[in-house]
Amino acid sequence: MISERIDAILGAAQTDVEQETAAHLNPKMVEALGLMGFKRQFVRGEGCTLYDADGNAYTDMLAGYGSVPLGHHAPEVWQAMDTVRQAKTPSFVLMAPEALPAALARELADRLPDPLEVSFFGSSGSEAVDGALKLARAVTHRDAFVYAERGYHGSTFGALSVTSDGRKKKFGTLLEASEIPFGDLGALEVRLRRRDVAAVVLEPIQAEGGVRLPPPNYLAQAKRLCARYGTVLILDEVQTGLARTGPMFALEDEGVVPDVLVLAKALSGGAMPIGAYVTSKKLWAAAYGSLADHELHCATYRGGPLACAAALSTLWTLDALDAPAMVRRKGAHLEAGLRSLAAKHASIHAVRGRGLLWGIEVRVPLPELAKALVAQQLVIGLLEAGYVTQVCTLDPSVVRVEPPLTIALEQIDGFLAAMERVLATRIRSVPRTLGRAAWDLARSALGPKS
Ligand code: PMP
Repeated sequence: MISERIDAILGAAQTDVEQETAAHLNPKMVEALGLMGFKRQFVRGEGCTLYDADGNAYTDMLAGYGSVPLGHHAPEVWQAMDTVRQAKTPSFVLMAPEALPAALARELADRLPDPLEVSFFGSSGSEAVDGALKLARAVTHRDAFVYAERGYHGSTFGALSVTSDGRKKKFGTLLEASEIPFGDLGALEVRLRRRDVAAVVLEPIQAEGGVRLPPPNYLAQAKRLCARYGTVLILDEVQTGLARTGPMFALEDEGVVPDVLVLAKALSGGAMPIGAYVTSKKLWAAAYGSLADHELHCATYRGGPLACAAALSTLWTLDALDAPAMVRRKGAHLEAGLRSLAAKHASIHAVRGRGLLWGIEVRVPLPELAKALVAQQLVIGLLEAGYVTQVCTLDPSVVRVEPPLTIALEQIDGFLAAMERVLATRIRSVPRTLGRAAWDLARSALGPKS
């Protein structure tokens, strides 16, 4: 019986899962997770709560890095996928226009400002970024790309080329791409003046880079510069999109309409892999407007019925919840709590964010590595207190907080209270483990501010 066999796998002992992971998935992953404090198996997720194999409950303040906007197993999302199953919609034919991806593309166009109205669907954020980069080259006939310091856009060759991570050197020659400081319009214009840049790729808020917000008006001005120099602006909303920061798309707060918008993560309600880029009819036609080229950029899983049904249901559910107003309300509550903790605890250097995407940067007068260790200690302390968070990929001194949008105010309050306890106990004592000299240096900075 298939279901019995799956049940048996889901009920496997943690040591077996660890062994199989180390043997067949990633030899170092279990060890690394252990060092980060995550030596436990999460076996159940319901709404905003995760359960480990020992039955301990955790509030999910990470939401799969933003990909679980409606909580785990949102009934609305399953209902949509069940309906596809009942209807026996073909899994993949590929040789006919399909109702679900067409409807999803229209619903995205309805929610986005003109002229963003043509979508391409794929299976991940990285794939969508790659598609956007190819589109930009095809329409501009230029090769170079520009991205921001601490920008994160993914792991495939194209997306990695425009990601600010020194470790990418390991992969040899990538696409031609220059890094500029985030928020620096002067540096952007200097680079664009050479008129060889196909696209500039930016996030409205740098999530993996440490939850960094640009100066006011930066993105709108960047768009103007791109238009002046014939460069495509790609806005990566893989993490900020779908009401994460308040508005349905963060571009609304920034007053910018990019040439290409990239979405993924939350789009399918955490149920199915999905990624999308959305552009104008004009750019699409310039790249793929001929019969010969109309499928030059393609993918088997471009708009699978289950993923598209899940995405449609996610959009409708976000509408029904009035997600922008809901996120602003809960976000204001979270922000007030975080700011009051920052005012009391010298170990917090800064809190930054918008809506339900926040970063807490720790302060330690020590080298970067120690800062990252202290941030990880905060994550471990929170985990032990029953709250799942994690540091940002490109800045491990920043603890990110991005719960499902459906998080309850009481759960936010519980999280803030746990954080207060962890800051007052575990974080104050962390420098002791870093050695005497480090402790002497850090002691003054880590006490309560009062
Ligand atoms: N862009 C941004 C802004 C992201 O945060 C991520 C993932 N963290 C990606 C792109 C890549 O998405 P994926 O992991 O689905 O390829």
